[in-house]
Amino acid sequence: MFVRMVKAATAEQLSAVRERAVAAGLAVYEEQGSTGSTLAILGPSGASAALEQEFGALAGVASVSRATRPYRLASREFRETPTVVKVRDAVIGGGTLTLMAGPCSIESREQLFEVAQGVADAGATLLRGGAFKPRTSPYAFQGLGLDGLRLLAEARERTGLPIITEVMEPAQVDMVSEFADVLQVGTRNMQNFSLLNAVGRTRMPVMLKRGLSGTIEEWLLAAEYILAAGNTQVILCERGIRTFETAARNTLDLNAVPILRKLTHLPVIVDPSHATGKRWMVAPMSYAGVAAGADGIMVEVHPKPEEAWSDGEQSLTIPMFQRLAGELRSIHTLVTPLHNDPGAAGASPSKK
Ligand code: PEP
Ligand code: MN
Repeated sequence: MFVRMVKAATAEQLSAVRERAVAAGLAVYEEQGSTGSTLAILGPSGASAALEQEFGALAGVASVSRATRPYRLASREFRETPTVVKVRDAVIGGGTLTLMAGPCSIESREQLFEVAQGVADAGATLLRGGAFKPRTSPYAFQGLGLDGLRLLAEARERTGLPIITEVMEPAQVDMVSEFADVLQVGTRNMQNFSLLNAVGRTRMPVMLKRGLSGTIEEWLLAAEYILAAGNTQVILCERGIRTFETAARNTLDLNAVPILRKLTHLPVIVDPSHATGKRWMVAPMSYAGVAAGADGIMVEVHPKPEEAWSDGEQSLTIPMFQRLAGELRSIHTLVTPLHNDPGAAGASPSKK
């Protein structure tokens, strides 16, 4: 249930609500909105009508309502204002355009530094690169592991770009957190609940990619695990889902962008590289993602895509990324006022 406090509620009144919730065995999460605090009071058994009435009668409480969605902390019902994630000098969400770019896998110092400098010069806002790679075949390159993380940290020093990299299992969370600025939870781990809990216990920004067959509701419930563990810095990434269509690697579900803007306050990134699997499709689907209202894109870039150790077919060259970055900035400038104008044909209503 959500307990909305009056704007003038005192600290004592807030504590009284918290204490009652804790006594009932429920967890409390607080969100400070422009009209006062909202407390999400959550637990496996949910709230009884009697308890709701009790909360409604407490001093300082403006209203009590039941959540209408299975996810709670991820919903706009709990938090109306968009979440903005700050990563060193980069800001994700809140009207900014995030450009995450870099190789699928870190292969060598030379390869990583060349891409890192190239994408930094082109205006990328974060550097991506896989050190622990979830590969379909056990015989495919699995990533450089810790050596890759060290190289990423060096690339950050050289370029000033914050870094995002995948963490595949709970046992790696401490190690990856030492180096990364954003932890990436990959598609294949969207519902790895012990990993979600583990990244939730950190206070690091986490980018949660959509599962290959994950519905939007399942995805938001996966994000809810991270939020429920106390980590508010969650970013969602649409990277294509598996459908009957085989002409492209996956099907980029661009419907997800406006749907998520309506349902959740979390920032949304589109990954057209994994969504399409084809270099020539990355630019058009990046344009579409930004036009649809995404907070940015993640793309794979390689100095020599034809020699890449993973995902070469979908990797852009550095000049291709340079050009794309400029085009996306223009599109973003054009569409931002439309997404913020409640009267525009494509405005995203946050209410039903
Ligand atoms: C990646 O971004 O490196 C990756 C493996 O993507 P996904 O989890 O979307 O397949
Ligand atoms: Mn890849």
